[in-house]
Amino acid sequence: MESFEYQSVQVLKGVGPSVAEKLTRLEIYNIQDVLFHLPLRYEDRTKISPIGSLQAGQHVLIEGVVDHSEVKFGGRGRRSLLCHLSDNTGAVILRFFYFNKAQQSNLSSGAKLRCFGEVRNGGRGSSRGSSQGGGLGRFEMIHPEYQVLQQKDVAVEQSLTPIYPKTEGVHQTLLKKISDQVLQAIDQGQLIDWLPATVIEKYQFPDLVKALSEVHRPPKNTNVFELNQCNSKAQQRLLFEELVAHQLSLLQVREKIKKTKSIKLPVTQPAYVAFKKKLSFELTRAQEKVIAEIYADINKAQPMLRLVQGDVGSGKTVVAAAATMAAIAAGQQVAIMAPTEILAEQHFASYKQWFDEDTCLLLTGRDKGKVRQQKLQQILSSERKIIVGTHALFQNDVEFNHLALLVVDEQHRFGVHQRLALREKGNKNNAAPHQLIMTATPIPRSLAMTAYADLDYSVIDELPAGRKPVTTVVVSTARRDEVIQRVEKACLTGEQAYWVCTLVEESEFLQCQAAEVTAEQLTTELKGVRVGLVHGRMKAEEKQNIIQQFKNSEIDLLVATTVIEVGVDVPNASLMVIENAERLGLAQLHQLRGRVGRGGKQSACVLMYQAPLSETGKQRLAILRATNDGFKVAEKDLELRGPGEVLGTRQTGLMQLRIADIVRDERWFSEVKKTSLYIIEHHPKAVQPLVRRWLGKAERFANV
Ligand code: ADP
Ligand code: MG
Repeated sequence: MESFEYQSVQVLKGVGPSVAEKLTRLEIYNIQDVLFHLPLRYEDRTKISPIGSLQAGQHVLIEGVVDHSEVKFGGRGRRSLLCHLSDNTGAVILRFFYFNKAQQSNLSSGAKLRCFGEVRNGGRGSSRGSSQGGGLGRFEMIHPEYQVLQQKDVAVEQSLTPIYPKTEGVHQTLLKKISDQVLQAIDQGQLIDWLPATVIEKYQFPDLVKALSEVHRPPKNTNVFELNQCNSKAQQRLLFEELVAHQLSLLQVREKIKKTKSIKLPVTQPAYVAFKKKLSFELTRAQEKVIAEIYADINKAQPMLRLVQGDVGSGKTVVAAAATMAAIAAGQQVAIMAPTEILAEQHFASYKQWFDEDTCLLLTGRDKGKVRQQKLQQILSSERKIIVGTHALFQNDVEFNHLALLVVDEQHRFGVHQRLALREKGNKNNAAPHQLIMTATPIPRSLAMTAYADLDYSVIDELPAGRKPVTTVVVSTARRDEVIQRVEKACLTGEQAYWVCTLVEESEFLQCQAAEVTAEQLTTELKGVRVGLVHGRMKAEEKQNIIQQFKNSEIDLLVATTVIEVGVDVPNASLMVIENAERLGLAQLHQLRGRVGRGGKQSACVLMYQAPLSETGKQRLAILRATNDGFKVAEKDLELRGPGEVLGTRQTGLMQLRIADIVRDERWFSEVKKTSLYIIEHHPKAVQPLVRRWLGKAERFANV
């Protein structure tokens, strides 16, 4: 029989096939998954707070008597039920927008209620309506949970209330009910603690069962604030174990890949010199250094796994091309993956300059039917050696003949599993391709080491000579006219500019429309300025055509959606205007800004925002004004948004953490690393169970 923790949730009371099906949405399949579905935060329903002591922002349990209730009509005919509740220390208003007759009568004067909710500063409606004078009645709770008390003493909760991540159809009560059962079961010693005793002792961690019980059901009087900061011993132990599990999984992936064979791609000095001669510039010292690191890697019969980081404009494309050269010299194929069509097209154009045009091929989702079939044939037969493409390269029917090198550009948009999938592409080499991953999202080193433990790491820490930092200003849309004048002046004196329209309501369609409208307006307002438009809904050739015209200086002002974020490279462009900059992440703004400042000219970036701007909003834009350094931007971005957003891992599942947080828990990293290596060496049997325990389904990544 499967051991206890791997038994299906259906062994639990109240879980039949339909509930079990719902639980899968939370990735809960077995008993162990229930245990490791950890609370997000806690509420304290163990004590009743005096109403007079409430403070805005608190989540509290209160008890009082309804003095009176009234239905009020707010703006837009919105009805609300205001219920004035008091105890002998003060009064508060409960506000309900949705209520039926029965509820209304339950909440009428004289009723004794126990409520739980968030305390907020009341709106105007509440203070005016209040019969008490002074400062009383200013606080309110919107839609609190409430219970009408019939008899005198109703017991309060004995432990803090955990709030679990939930999903549609799975409520807190269900999660609580099933975790109660599982917690009781583990009390009888059915769960194996896979952290070695030496480790537990070293950090003075509680044992697994104790830690889990405390995290699920923190005893009364545990400090809620500390818990919500994840600072209790029990939480620390679990987050440590989680980070170790992730580290182990990444190390496993790495080991697996390192054990596979790959084709050696040696580079001769004359070949390298000949390659450099074809370039219209000298490589920077940093580029040469990274190329040397790559050459050392690919000259081995073990696959390279290297992440190259370089700020926007640091010249990553040519570094990848230098690696490509080695593969071509060895008669092998190279796949270059880009996250967007525009970027793929841009790379394709660069590669055609540096290599024999007949050896390059572009494959995107736009290729359909016969054209696509023909291209697939050219890839399979190895007639084309350099294949540039988008996600289209992941598709099952794409097969290579001799794929020896895989370049993934802007890696943060691909997940680790997608990358691994490419290794499995049919390949007569019978060997894994070397992998080169390029990213402009400058990830702080410590974070990179954790999130990408399966990769070696190089940095292009220098920009090509002569680049001048972009001057960034932040202005309100109220000054749009001034900005337009500035664009006009620039364009009329032979400079080129971008005008970027940002996401409207998360809809690509609306975004494109907004760009169309803006382009029209600007065309009307700016006589003598040639305005072009590019957005994601245009056909590939159309887009390419417009960008080419912009490159040829036949267009002065390019109105665009964020599709130009990566890849577009027009050195003469020196002004970038971004509308509604407050809607974008810092890293994305930095990327966009990187479209200018590529030539020798002094460039500028205007970040326009829609007032009023929140305090964080102000801080964020101020960071971009203060620095051009992508690493500093990324660090701040991490602080403000968290690693999931910054790395794009939220979508890709690269690192879905249950309790740990890569930024908050950074101080544990070096210990996590040591412990992981220690476990691999001294407790190899614990590796798989730990990975399975914490990564659940994600463990399959380790087995690819
Ligand atoms: P990114 O690192 O953002 O991908 P690119 O590879 O697109 O940067 O390079 C940006 C621009 O800089 C391109 O026009 C490229 O040709 C140019 N470039 C790259 N390396 C150098 C160099 N060593 N000297 C001058 N220009 C360079
Ligand atoms: Mg690039």
